[in-house]
Amino acid sequence: MKLLDNRVALITGAGRGIGRAIALAFAAEGARLALTARTASELDEVAGQIRSAGGTALTLPADLANRAVLQQLVASVAKSLGPVEILVNNAGIGSSAGPSPVVDFSDDFWEQTLQVNLTAPYLLSKAVLPGMLAKKWGRIIMIASINGKIGALHGAAYAASKHGLLGFTRTLAIEVAKEGITVNAICPGPVHTLMNDVRVQYDARRKGVTFEEQATGLTPLGRRLEPEEIAPLAVYLASDAAASVVGQAINIDGGVLMTG
Ligand code: NAP
Repeated sequence: MKLLDNRVALITGAGRGIGRAIALAFAAEGARLALTARTASELDEVAGQIRSAGGTALTLPADLANRAVLQQLVASVAKSLGPVEILVNNAGIGSSAGPSPVVDFSDDFWEQTLQVNLTAPYLLSKAVLPGMLAKKWGRIIMIASINGKIGALHGAAYAASKHGLLGFTRTLAIEVAKEGITVNAICPGPVHTLMNDVRVQYDARRKGVTFEEQATGLTPLGRRLEPEEIAPLAVYLASDAAASVVGQAINIDGGVLMTG
């Protein structure tokens, strides 16, 4: 028996990076997957890999900045695979997409970041809750960030969205704890993904150092983390074994926050 046998999981931002690694790890543990992001070709690549290993993966391309599609997304999963039992709110816009001091910050970028990083997880969680409450079982996992706990230079919208996501996680966790539903967040440090590559480039340019110097100086490990180092914690939080882990915001950061 695998850890997530036959569980129906919806993973946002599943086309690349951390979401992709979580999708592959969930599939290896027997979950039936619904994968969403905007880029259909990336979703197809992940789904193809899962299907060729004998797993189930449905692809649902969608833009999470569009509120109207969120309820529809959850309904499509229910129709094809059954009600969502595990929701991973992973999709996100990084500070790297529009870094700026607050005085010059783009209001449009602020709105877009809050929509994708905070409002979409709220609305998707709300949409999956009735099914989880009926079943008295559910797992909601947020991929937050260490910037949910500390500021992000030139990334006000990112840090605000991730701080907000932790507030939402803890509040929802209290509300549904007695219903067999757990809500928790993973707070990664710098992970080697497209989003982080762009941020490293920005900081390297800002500081006048090389990309390599910036990347290796980010953690006490002397390197960034790989997406595959985040996925096992998501598998654990999604499993029956984590039934008593409630409202936590767990760092996997290579020691960044510990060093202050
Ligand atoms: P990534 O490689 O850029 O992947 C981001 C994913 O989110 C992609 O699949 C992207 O797909 C999707 N996405 C972005 N905007 C979207 C939108 N409007 N609608 C639907 N999907 C959207 O980044 P990542 O590093 O894996 O980030 C995943 C999560 O980890 C994010 O929440 C991020 O904040 C968090 N995180 C990352 C790091 C890090 O260092 N990498 C650290 C801490 C936390 P499309 O572009 O195709 O839509």
